[in-house]
Amino acid sequence: MMKQAAELIRAGRLVAFPTETVYGLGSNALDAAAVARIFAAKGRPPTSPLIVHVDSIDMARSLARQWPDAAGALARRHWPGPLTLVVPKLDTVPDIVTAGLPTVGLRMPAHPLALALIRAAGVPIAAPSANRFTQLSPTTAEHVRRGLGDAVDLILDGGPTRLGIESTVLSLAGERPVLLRPGMVSREEIERIIGPVDLAGQVEGAHPSPGLHPRHYSPRTQLALLDPGAPLPPGSVALLWLTAETPAARSIHMSGDPAEYGARLYGLLHDLDAEGWDWIAVERPPATPEWAAILDRLSRAAG
Ligand code: AMP
Ligand code: MG
Repeated sequence: MMKQAAELIRAGRLVAFPTETVYGLGSNALDAAAVARIFAAKGRPPTSPLIVHVDSIDMARSLARQWPDAAGALARRHWPGPLTLVVPKLDTVPDIVTAGLPTVGLRMPAHPLALALIRAAGVPIAAPSANRFTQLSPTTAEHVRRGLGDAVDLILDGGPTRLGIESTVLSLAGERPVLLRPGMVSREEIERIIGPVDLAGQVEGAHPSPGLHPRHYSPRTQLALLDPGAPLPPGSVALLWLTAETPAARSIHMSGDPAEYGARLYGLLHDLDAEGWDWIAVERPPATPEWAAILDRLSRAAG
């Protein structure tokens, strides 16, 4: 299976594969025609840059025009892991990968199948989440099959993903580091290593980022983000609740541990979507650093 997957990548085809965050839809990052297939399969606008997955710091550096000290320090500490670093790119990275930006987002994923695929293919792999544009990210091979079907040439099945929330994206291409998308590597953890990090939106001219679209990461069912005790939306409602039980046709008690919560969230939303509720009501998690990534995704899902 791995040999076939690597051959497909080298032949310019699409392979979906698990990472520790969500499933990715990958193709050879150095082959513009192969990368164009990703945009077509996802229905993704060409203005949304893709993350390039690498199997080593060396491979990352081979794609970067500059590799700042901060990138080295963060990669040594957090790679393989759920942290994407945006740095100036070399011309070997086709413009289609980066939506024409002079920068590229690089990440070494912490999943044995993802690393084995990059190694066997011998090329960096461009991969956004393996779902149609703006829809929920897949956390199982079955989600990929349901969402993309025949558009993908092969799916490597690694079971449910461990983290379930997309990577933290940090730009190191400007004068000051900018957090473009929160993830399970928190801003505070990054600041402990490299000092102050700005938030996207605080800065003029921050890099465009698909994760910043107001509606993204969304189930098809309307999602309401509510404080405990707030009235429920009209119609049939499924609840994802942290604290007190509130009466609803379907009430799911969620873990108060953000890692457990994150690992379960997208899978539940996929399932509830299939059940045909009018609303999915989600209790707003606390506004603390450990919950920042989950709160970000829920806010975008609520549109
Ligand atoms: P996804 O489609 O879920 O894989 O999301 C891709 C993410 O990649 C986006 O949220 C962006 O933040 C990020 N990204 C990739 N490349 C770049 C880049 N060159 N500049 C800014 N953000 C990037
Ligand atoms: Mg995505």
